[in-house]
Amino acid sequence: MGLVPGWPSGIYRKSGPQGVRFCETEIMLKKIKKSEDEWKKILTTEQFRVMRQHGTEAPFTCSWNKNENGVYHCAACGLPLFRHEHKFDSGTGWPSYFQPVAPDHVEFQVDSSHGMIREEVRCARCDSHLGHVFEGGPPPTRKRYCINSIALKFIPEIDEEPGDGE
Ligand SMILES: [Zn+2]
Repeated sequence: MGLVPGWPSGIYRKSGPQGVRFCETEIMLKKIKKSEDEWKKILTTEQFRVMRQHGTEAPFTCSWNKNENGVYHCAACGLPLFRHEHKFDSGTGWPSYFQPVAPDHVEFQVDSSHGMIREEVRCARCDSHLGHVFEGGPPPTRKRYCINSIALKFIPEIDEEPGDGE
């Protein structure tokens, strides 16, 4: 089944140091192009404001604070973007990660709005705005991906270990 327009099934297998591997569907990084009217139908009002109009949610509004293994997906197109083990508490009020799930799942754009030069982070597949990346994160990357929680959808990782046979 395709990943669009619905959500991926969320079944993953952790395999090797490279991280996520899909069991069912190969990740397609082919661009998704939709009109803003189409996005409006898919996204909530607040998601549309943040993801398509480069808004920023208020800090500490994150409705989830997951502390379980899983993958954070683009709320617009479902592309996996960040992993739980790359998340850290930055104290900023936004979910923060020191690296994306894979380098080519996000794209960067210079953002000179609000009198600052910042590096905007976008979903590589649907070009939705996710947040910004800053220096000052933890090792090994020392990057801090500061992401709007509303732009992400968390899908828990299913443990593929066989049961204990009971
Ligand atoms: Zn996307």
